[in-house]
Amino acid sequence: MFNTISKRTLRSPIISNLLFRRYGIDKNSYLKIAKDKIIEKPQVEKTKQEWEDQLGREGYKIMREHGTERAFLHELNDFKSKEGTFECAGCGNELFPASAKFDSGSGWPSFYDVKNEQESVILKTDVSYGMVRVEVLCNNCHSHLGHVFDDAYRQPTGLRYCINGACIRHKN
Ligand SMILES: [Zn+2]
Repeated sequence: MFNTISKRTLRSPIISNLLFRRYGIDKNSYLKIAKDKIIEKPQVEKTKQEWEDQLGREGYKIMREHGTERAFLHELNDFKSKEGTFECAGCGNELFPASAKFDSGSGWPSFYDVKNEQESVILKTDVSYGMVRVEVLCNNCHSHLGHVFDDAYRQPTGLRYCINGACIRHKN
């Protein structure tokens, strides 16, 4: 996932701690590695109308306008099976293995890891609403998925990808 991280994101303390903890690399050395690999343009592009037709009004608001669904609302929050994969509702990109889903109690589907570190997601600093958070976007279509936090102390990575149910689909 860190091949597509933006320079701005690296200023986030969450991300620099995470890089250090998971990969043993500090922020500055990572900057050198990542410099030429930042993806500027999504691989899947659609018009506003096409996105609206595909995602519906609510889905469009969340995925294309960085919205958030109400906690405990989406049925995938309670999804328990460890089989299969969750893919992007926008483009079908494989995002999270069902085996990495856990009950965080937050009311949103939560995962401690991504399916593919290179291809699943992009992380980006989000300073909206007076908070500094790390936004999670689909690596393929750049749709908004949710945010990642480093407070999952009981999970193997320590990470909690907090994802809107409307942005993902389960497939076996
Ligand atoms: Zn996507």
